[in-house]
Amino acid sequence: MRIDILTLFPEMFSALEHSIVGRAQKSGKIEVNFHNFRDFATNTQKHVDDMPYGGGQGMLLMPQPIFDTMASFPHENARVLMMDPAGRTFDQKFAEELSQESQVVFLCGHYEGFDERIKSLVTDEVSLGDYVLTGGEVAASVMIDATVRLIPDVLGKKASHEDDSFSSGLLEYPQYTRPEDFRGLKVPDVLMSGHHENIRKWRLRESLAKTLRLRPDLLEAYDFSDEEKAMLSDLKAADHAV
Ligand code: SAM
Repeated sequence: MRIDILTLFPEMFSALEHSIVGRAQKSGKIEVNFHNFRDFATNTQKHVDDMPYGGGQGMLLMPQPIFDTMASFPHENARVLMMDPAGRTFDQKFAEELSQESQVVFLCGHYEGFDERIKSLVTDEVSLGDYVLTGGEVAASVMIDATVRLIPDVLGKKASHEDDSFSSGLLEYPQYTRPEDFRGLKVPDVLMSGHHENIRKWRLRESLAKTLRLRPDLLEAYDFSDEEKAMLSDLKAADHAV
């Protein structure tokens, strides 16, 4: 995947040089290109922002530096994402969708945001969540991290994202590693039984219980199997009995 990032602060993306995303760059599974759109400002002071027409506080990013930056690299079939608190909220499904793309462009705003005409360059306006950040760099870093780990073979052979929270539509079940007994806190017996079917059922039940407790909103959109329906009604009945 080719990733292009339009930003005034490329140094804020140093997190992408490390760990799994860093390795994906080194192995050539992704290529990250930075474009500092200040380099494309045509005025002598290299200003990229100006006051909003009609008045109001803060400065807006002008169209010219961003249009010229976009014209400077190929992106015919790319998804072009504008980082925007008013956009659709980024989630695991969207990360999965992006991970199938061959090129994704991230447009990072600053100051009061973008001149509205810049939106004619983008395919998606995307928000990290319902809060306002100082700039789009942190939001783009999060979206890149969540997307890149879903590209085939980016996670090592021993890791997998299929059971991750949200991938299946449910939260991930609890997990344990050594030791079996840590200061009196014990690993559930079923996980050491070697009985694969019982382990599968325990994990599914725990996933449903955790989702019911922490994120019941996810269950509204979930497509239940008969087994899951029965488990969920057991869990609800047990909850009422307490
Ligand atoms: N005036 C804008 C508004 O009220 O919607 C906020 C501008 S914000 C201070 C500057 C830039 O940070 C935005 O243009 C956007 O690129 C980025 N940004 C801020 N919050 C964000 C969020 N929740 N998700 C994605 N990008 C965000």
